[in-house]
Amino acid sequence: MKVKQTLSQHGLRARKSLGQNFLRDDSFVRRIVDISGIGPEDTVVEIGPGLGIMTAQLARRARSVTALEIDSQLLEYLCLEYGHLDNLKFVHGDALEYDWKEFGNSFSLVANLPYNISSQVLVRIVEHREQVTSFTVMLQKEMAQRALAKEGSKDFGPLALYLSLYFDLQLGLATIPPHLFHPAPAVSSAVLCGTLLPQPRYDIKSFPKFQALVRLAFAHRRKTIRNNFRGAPWFERFLQQAPQLGILPERRAESLSLREFYALYNLVEES
Ligand code: SAM
Repeated sequence: MKVKQTLSQHGLRARKSLGQNFLRDDSFVRRIVDISGIGPEDTVVEIGPGLGIMTAQLARRARSVTALEIDSQLLEYLCLEYGHLDNLKFVHGDALEYDWKEFGNSFSLVANLPYNISSQVLVRIVEHREQVTSFTVMLQKEMAQRALAKEGSKDFGPLALYLSLYFDLQLGLATIPPHLFHPAPAVSSAVLCGTLLPQPRYDIKSFPKFQALVRLAFAHRRKTIRNNFRGAPWFERFLQQAPQLGILPERRAESLSLREFYALYNLVEES
């Protein structure tokens, strides 16, 4: 796709504030769509179709595609260019505000995510796990590393915990160089894939409560969990009981495994 030419022909420009780095190479996009494994049975949601380079390929393979775009100028172009595809629907909205219930009961999410909201979209995916059966997203390489990080590593944090609780994760592509985009971003990208697990790894009754606990544990990464938890209503109970679970209060959050967070969650929820 001749991105530069298409933009200028239609009086459009790439808006940095919306993370608009458009993919230029159709055969590269085909690789990503291949990785997504989308087939004729699949209902797909795309976030940020941009100039539609991926959207068109998805619509050719999937049963139906809904593409949510925040930029109304791009939407005008998209409707003009792809309006004839009857299994494709464009929606105007903000992926972080839009009611994902509108997307239906079960779908695969595919996106070249705007970098500035990619971690928030990943959290939204987790929050909507009852609908999102799989996802294939392109994001900043560092973000993919954070999502895939293992306990004890410096990248390990809330994102890795939330995602691994519900999804089987894979790195679809490790490094995508900036020159494949227009305009070229300052950083490399990667493709992260997730498949919803048949059962969550641990039985967390309330994800928001688990999230609150994890956020508190990581509130100040350099502090111990004892210091981060100080002031919580269950603090005394934590001091007394956590060591019996093998969780010393002097540890830092990044050293705790998902299993240990689950144990802490149960301890906190009992109080
Ligand atoms: N999919 C296209 C591609 O690969 O060339 C465009 C990808 S570009 C990295 C990100 C797209 O997301 C842009 O079209 C941008 O306008 C859109 N976008 C940015 N913020 C958004 C939001 N909050 N909700 C929905 N779309 C958004």
